Amino acid sequence: MSRIEVDTTRLPLLLGDLRLPAIGRFWLEIAERSDREGWPAARFLATLAELEVAERAQRRIERHLAEARLPLDKTLDSFDFTHVPMLSRARVAAIAAGDAWLSKGDNLLLFGPPGSGKTHISAAIGRALVETGYRVLFTRTTDLVQRLQAARQQLALEAAITKLDRYDLLVLDDLSYVRKDQAETSVLFELIGKRYERRSMLITANQPFAEWNKVFPDPAMTIAAVDRLVHHAVVIEMNVHSYRQKAATTRKNRGASIRSDNQNTDAAISQQNANKTLASDNLVRQSSHPSAAESPS
Ligand code: ADP
Ligand code: MG
Repeated sequence: MSRIEVDTTRLPLLLGDLRLPAIGRFWLEIAERSDREGWPAARFLATLAELEVAERAQRRIERHLAEARLPLDKTLDSFDFTHVPMLSRARVAAIAAGDAWLSKGDNLLLFGPPGSGKTHISAAIGRALVETGYRVLFTRTTDLVQRLQAARQQLALEAAITKLDRYDLLVLDDLSYVRKDQAETSVLFELIGKRYERRSMLITANQPFAEWNKVFPDPAMTIAAVDRLVHHAVVIEMNVHSYRQKAATTRKNRGASIRSDNQNTDAAISQQNANKTLASDNLVRQSSHPSAAESPS
């Protein structure tokens, strides 16, 4: 090997050229320690390499957190699992680890009345997945539909949908707020078709499938969309009362009149939910996939 002229004063420049910012910041400190403690050269080099790799992973996660557009403060730590008995912490932890379901492109469908915690838990799952190294995009379904429609008008729908492939998980919040009369929602159908069995989606909605005819242009498209979504999906119905209402009630120290009001609302919501669940069961059965509502492995 020919002799290389070594000029350590050029190190900051060289490390900058090589895009090794962590080594750039730490090499002097580590070099001094290495000299003091008499490290073998290999240990010195390996220590610097480890630092750079660790920082790179951290930067990647920060980038992915920024691109995920998750609502702030909605984390697993701040989620009160006692409010949602059908959703155990262990089950959510398994989902939030990603692995099996994301690699298969399986879906997660969360249903529940307003305030039941769907947005909170789906954002929390999204955040946990990003921190594990996955790429996630959290969006209100209406916002994404608008984006895709704009792309379609520019004849770039296919490209826009393909671009979403970079995300291991798309969280579509509030699907049932999309209305076919507001917009041409078949873009949503195309998205569902494109991701089917390849890339995962987490969809939240107030109503299980029964009301989705209001979302898609025609019943055949609704059935086809539901069919693809539930084929490899975990369906969780969060039939609990509004957490906001619970918080407000607690704050008011449970006055007698509030209590009886809530009981009336509770009864109404329970009845509503019972009806909806029945309707969704029918639709799932129609879609002829008996495995649709199974629990996660
Ligand atoms: P949804 O999306 O089902 O309408 P949200 O997730 O927006 O409900 O919940 C409404 C509010 O209550 C939010 O501020 C949310 O953080 C809070 N919340 C809901 N469920 C829980 C829970 N189980 N633990 C802690 N906060 C909750
Ligand atoms: Mg919500």
